[in-house]
Amino acid sequence: MLLIILMRKYDDTYRHKGLRKKLVDIIRDKGINDEAVLTAINNIPRHFFLDSAFDEIAYEDRAFPIAEGQTISQPYTVAYQTQLLQVKPFEKILEIGTGSIYQATVLAEMKAQVFTIERQKVLFDRTKHFVLKGKYPNMKFFYGDGYEGLPTYAPFDKVIITAAAPFIPPKLVAQLKTGGKMVIPVDEGAQQRMLRLTKNADDNTSEEAFENFSFVPMLAGKNG
Ligand code: SAH
Repeated sequence: MLLIILMRKYDDTYRHKGLRKKLVDIIRDKGINDEAVLTAINNIPRHFFLDSAFDEIAYEDRAFPIAEGQTISQPYTVAYQTQLLQVKPFEKILEIGTGSIYQATVLAEMKAQVFTIERQKVLFDRTKHFVLKGKYPNMKFFYGDGYEGLPTYAPFDKVIITAAAPFIPPKLVAQLKTGGKMVIPVDEGAQQRMLRLTKNADDNTSEEAFENFSFVPMLAGKNG
């Protein structure tokens, strides 16, 4: 019985593909125009990343609870952050907040080398059984504190933070290459302002500010 349910969950039918095309149209209408981002979203079966058996929900443009009080980001938000990141094939990208693995998969589908950190043990442990693992050898999972980054693997071309950061973590800036970019939602009261930071040749940074979003908080340390 369980096997049948699992097999159905990991079935990507024509119906799913149709729902996904509509989702891509919605995201495009909202202003996302990076075709590589839209193609990645069109290619990835988002219903594989939800706990729910009601897989239509996966193709609505909204966030959804996963385990441990965390969320899978809204598809538009994933597309927005990914577009700001200006992903190119083979870039080394550090993600903070693995969560459902969906955002990391979008980056991997775009042929980046993805390093993703999760502080919740339960969520990290799930990555060991990630059903698309074989398809994406360009993805590495880490259990740790995102504020620390991954000094062993630094420097990175890009850094993306998918939780609400109270400030820009200095160690993550230090782990960016010259010319590298960080996309980070930084707290501004109840919401966060999406910022894109560029590391310049003199090690100074410049910042661009974009729209407001609402993320779960980025917390310090490991949990569990
Ligand atoms: N990128 C995820 C979004 C998950 S929500 C997705 O595509 O589904 C944010 C995630 O960040 C949560 O899983 C939360 O546990 C994690 N998180 C919060 N603070 C963190 C930290 N300091 N280091 C690493 N992960 C963190």
